[in-house]
Amino acid sequence: MGHYDISGCYILNPSAMKVWKLIRAFFDAEIEKMDVEEYCFPMFVSPACLEKEKDHIEGFSPELPTQIAIRPTSETAIYPYFSKWIRGHRDLPLKLNQWVNVVRWEFSDPVPFIRSREFLWQEGHTAFATKSEADKEVFDILQIYSDVYEKLLAVPVIKGMKSENEKFAGGLYTSSVEAFIPAAGRGVQAATSHCLGQNFAKMFDISFEDKEGHRSLVWQNSWGLSTRSIGVMIMTHGDDKGLVFPPLVAPVQVVVIPVPFSGVDTKIIYEACEAVKSTLLEAGIRAKADTRDNYACGWKYSDWEQKGVPLRIEIGPRDLAKNQVRIVRRDNGAKADLSREGLIEQVKDLLGKIQENLFDAAKRKVDACTQKVETWDDFMEALNQKKLILAPWCDEVEVERLVKEHTKTETAAATAKTLCTPLEQPELNEGTLCFASGKPAKKWSYWGRSY
Ligand code: AMP
Repeated sequence: MGHYDISGCYILNPSAMKVWKLIRAFFDAEIEKMDVEEYCFPMFVSPACLEKEKDHIEGFSPELPTQIAIRPTSETAIYPYFSKWIRGHRDLPLKLNQWVNVVRWEFSDPVPFIRSREFLWQEGHTAFATKSEADKEVFDILQIYSDVYEKLLAVPVIKGMKSENEKFAGGLYTSSVEAFIPAAGRGVQAATSHCLGQNFAKMFDISFEDKEGHRSLVWQNSWGLSTRSIGVMIMTHGDDKGLVFPPLVAPVQVVVIPVPFSGVDTKIIYEACEAVKSTLLEAGIRAKADTRDNYACGWKYSDWEQKGVPLRIEIGPRDLAKNQVRIVRRDNGAKADLSREGLIEQVKDLLGKIQENLFDAAKRKVDACTQKVETWDDFMEALNQKKLILAPWCDEVEVERLVKEHTKTETAAATAKTLCTPLEQPELNEGTLCFASGKPAKKWSYWGRSY
């Protein structure tokens, strides 16, 4: 990630693009199973289409002087065409996805990857004949988002529902996966899957003739995952030495470094490194040999540690003599000498273990700073300790507004709000009261400061 001379805009470097490519491949494979097809709409939206959905566009303010807007999201660009393409029940379901850039200018506090003015994402747009089909898809997609984070990026997330305040204004309800960064004491909305209901169908006149010959409005969803995911992964796993990539998305999974000794033929060592690298590449492992001869090996070790490469292989004269290599894990620093016979299997096994260990370590940290509270005082204390808070709530919009107001401080940049109401609900005992209003609680929700 490099800085650019416009605030909030960043250059995505080859590492970031490689991670994005791997996320994309994983997600595409999943949505192809659901018969979602790939599209690419123009990034410009005509004023006529924007006008139709003023509410949700308010705040994005993306207009150009020529009165053509740049998409902040593509509902208004795509749905006029849904209206044309959908005629009868045979045209449904219609399921599209596009991998594109979008532009949002409404905020003043950009954070690399997490909140940028232009970002890359996928946006899915689907239309169904019935609400139950739309509902099902919302949660199928949410599960894929959860898998992208937990299985690929080794980041634990919570699946849940957004509050009335936090949902997508133009939709019926919003589900999301939420991550939490313990060091910052902040939640982060990791991806969203919205059920739009029939609101857009009404605005854009998207209807179909059903089997009985009646015209009905379609039920729609939209869902998005952005390059924010890369930022969440970096913040979750990074340590004092720098980046830590989970093996499944590491641009380089194994780096092979020659350890030359004076008086020993370095050429043989360099050749051995190249040979090990080739064997790894042939086995489908992303490997590199660092044969730069203008750096000492100690310098190279820290360079690759900083870059987050999961495994380092060192080869020196003694290793060569014993037909072995020295292997060092980035996640816990553990070292082992492995025979070059059967090296591939052992490397694959270690990469799997690192992937698991990173997820488990991240999960333990989030669990350790999650706190259940039932009173306002306990809530404030937990908030000041940067906790992820689970609290019983009356689910009233006004109460969330008041919590925001009361948690505004001069030192903390963000106010506390609901992150989500988890799908997996702890038991809510009879008579449990809302931690903020004292009214009967309807559900357990996660609260905290967020990015
Ligand atoms: P939304 O259309 O607002 O529901 O956004 C979908 C997803 O895109 C969110 O869940 C975020 O993870 C991500 N996102 C939203 N705004 C930004 C931004 N400014 N920069 C990067 N990612 C974003």
